[in-house]
Amino acid sequence: MKNIVILGATGSIGDSTLSVVDLHPDKFNIFALSAHTNWQKMQALCEKYHPKFVVMTEEKSANKLQQSLTQSQASNCAVLSGEEALCGLAAHAETDFVMAAIVGAAGMASSLAAAKAGKRIMLANKESLVLAGDLFMQAVRDNNAELIPVDSEHSAIFQCLQNGQTGLSKIQLTASGGPFLHTPIEQLKTITPNEACAHPNWSMGRKISVDSATMMNKGLEVIEAHYLFNLPAENIEVVIHPQSIVHSSVYYQDGSTLSQLGNPDMRTVIAYALSYPDRMTSGVAPLDLAGNSPLEFYTPDLDKFACLRLAFEALKQGGSAMGTLNAANEVAVEHFLNNKIGFLEIAKIVERTLNTVQHTYITSLEAIVTNDKIARETAQRIINA
Ligand code: NAD
Ligand code: MG
Repeated sequence: MKNIVILGATGSIGDSTLSVVDLHPDKFNIFALSAHTNWQKMQALCEKYHPKFVVMTEEKSANKLQQSLTQSQASNCAVLSGEEALCGLAAHAETDFVMAAIVGAAGMASSLAAAKAGKRIMLANKESLVLAGDLFMQAVRDNNAELIPVDSEHSAIFQCLQNGQTGLSKIQLTASGGPFLHTPIEQLKTITPNEACAHPNWSMGRKISVDSATMMNKGLEVIEAHYLFNLPAENIEVVIHPQSIVHSSVYYQDGSTLSQLGNPDMRTVIAYALSYPDRMTSGVAPLDLAGNSPLEFYTPDLDKFACLRLAFEALKQGGSAMGTLNAANEVAVEHFLNNKIGFLEIAKIVERTLNTVQHTYITSLEAIVTNDKIARETAQRIINA
């Protein structure tokens, strides 16, 4: 029996993780759960799973949950709050597996805590690698942590590379191209948040859905792949594949290419991360190749999807540039979701922030946090100007 901690349990990845765990009650025990503010949903999860600990990172929500649980007497889990509590549970002696599924830079410290404690980290929070890739991978190596990607592309590559990287020439991430793949750039000006969040293949949280529409998500994933598979930007390629059936491919020097295929459903990826190196059921239907015909592939347009270009540039620049890219994007996406800026402004704000914030070589967590703060303030100033 493995004790699971789900950080970001009330989100889309959290839902999918719990639905896979539901299929295997003999293998997994929900030891702890976290969420930010949605205490009502967390209350329902407490009543169903009876975790030993729950963290509501926002204190007010923790108090509300505590009051409500005391009244209902349906669960006697300990309710904690704050980021330190997240890190404490990620590193707890009784924790076996940590699902890192908080959205954004807010997930970095707890992912890192799990790495330092030598846990199995099922990493959905790609922002951890974008911000702190060097430190994170070092912590994984130094503490014999197990890092299993929970991103469909990276899981695909991880699965294809099970026999090692000898003879590998490049990896290729597939990208759906999002809801605006065929929308002319002039029409993108007036896109609304709901239009941007209506992804054709995947059902996800709002921030990653906007990132998919701008293709910043693919940019962050290129950086994620750079750290996970220790490859330079030159050996990482992106191809548009609107059907999201081929999840990614690895190319060898001898002309051979391996891909991993499946229905676009994160439960497959999550089941693999939970059962690795074995396989177990996930609840996902088998792939019907003939029913998904034709499978198409295109080269991405880097003028239209400027965020993807900017992410490649930040990766080539190295150091703090990737953290600056991420911070500016988080600020811009939040403003877009609140109807404060237009869709096309997102890339412009990220580019201006990258051109304004001074790049440094990052060696400590403090430097990462400071750079993140400066980049956010800069992006905010650019938006206000
Ligand atoms: P979501 O918005 O549905 O859920 C986010 C979770 O994080 C919620 O439980 C929320 O309570 C918590 N959270 C939000 N802000 C927080 C904060 N400041 N502090 C602590 N907790 C906070 O997001 P999601 O779609 O589940 O994505 C989660 C992560 O997984 C993201 O990094 C995303 O890029 C990655 N991911 C998601 C998918 C997907 O299919 N949804 C696929 C690949 C990778
Ligand atoms: Mg992905």
